[in-house]
Amino acid sequence: MWDISEYRGRYGSVLGASTVQQIERKNREAWKSFFSLKKKGEANGKPGFWGNTDEGRELRTYIRNTSYSVEWGEYSRLEILVGQDLKDEYGLGHRERLRLEVRGDPNWKEYEKQGRLELFYDEQSQTFRAFQPVTVDDSRLAHPLASEKAALDIGANNLVACTTTTGQQYLYEGRDLFKRFRETTREIARLQSLLEDGRYSSHRIRRLYDRRTKRRDHAQDALARDLIERLYDEGVSTVYVGALTDVLETHWSVETNAKTHNFWAFRAFVNRLACTAEEYGISVEVRSEAWTSQECPNCGSTEDTTRHRDTLTCPCGFEGHADLVASKTFLRRHQNASSSGWRTRCGASRQRQTTVTRSMARPVCLKWDNHEWLESSRSPRPNEEHTNPQVASVGR
Ligand SMILES: [Zn+2]
Repeated sequence: MWDISEYRGRYGSVLGASTVQQIERKNREAWKSFFSLKKKGEANGKPGFWGNTDEGRELRTYIRNTSYSVEWGEYSRLEILVGQDLKDEYGLGHRERLRLEVRGDPNWKEYEKQGRLELFYDEQSQTFRAFQPVTVDDSRLAHPLASEKAALDIGANNLVACTTTTGQQYLYEGRDLFKRFRETTREIARLQSLLEDGRYSSHRIRRLYDRRTKRRDHAQDALARDLIERLYDEGVSTVYVGALTDVLETHWSVETNAKTHNFWAFRAFVNRLACTAEEYGISVEVRSEAWTSQECPNCGSTEDTTRHRDTLTCPCGFEGHADLVASKTFLRRHQNASSSGWRTRCGASRQRQTTVTRSMARPVCLKWDNHEWLESSRSPRPNEEHTNPQVASVGR
């Protein structure tokens, strides 16, 4: 932990005392979370440093919720509190704030309460960006249209495979994204091997890390929104997510597992998903009990099935998309597991809760084009098609 008093004096006159205090608090939070994760053996690298004098710095700061204001309109603006030195430089009065022009399309223009503003410089696009967390009144949030359920299978080649109790299936393809992630990772390793002794990073390496993270975050954000909007339209109120450790196939190498973990930043993704779901009143539940994604949905065998690429085959004659099958099995488990808890509910809704036997529509396959998830024309076959071809065309 560092002594803040020195920095308060040095930067307070430029940034304002409250901003220096926010950075101190952010720093404390980061280390606190690092040590608590470390205790649990889950620490994933020390809190990030924002560069140094030799390799360039990342510009990032935090503004206390009471030290800024945003106004959206024809000329949107952000006003932030700054220190006396900056006020003098810009000719601002003692009580004036620094006024900045902003552009953007915020999800919430009206809100109950604003959180700490994060400001940073995006080197790639050479723009300053701002993140503003807000608290929104419950009555402004959407409410689920029905009480359908959905289950997600998460992986690296197929980022998300999802099955709903309404018989919909969605498959978000991740092959290209994962491939680019691996390529960037290799390039980072190559550059690291070229570093002089005693150096651990370089400007280029940090930029690559940064780009890799941003690309993933962008795709994940867009995925969460695309999926949740689809699920909302289906009347889903609860989404079950299998903990990634259990989803990973045992036949995968340790290395692949580590990469998938790294790539997905599972916690961050579930968090993103939960935040988006909250806007729609949908709850996200992470379920960690062991289950196998190798299970044949037809005969229940887990031993005799084989997975080749995306296809799961079973001696009983079943053949289907492995990840979609997995999400369907996962969904069925949860419905069955929770059905005993539904006794107090009325019979009609209970019946709907206990089975996933509604026929499956043709799965919707989505591909990332670096901007949005687009429905691909090449959709995988529904799982039942092999054993009962008529089922495929049955709508809800
Ligand atoms: Zn079988």
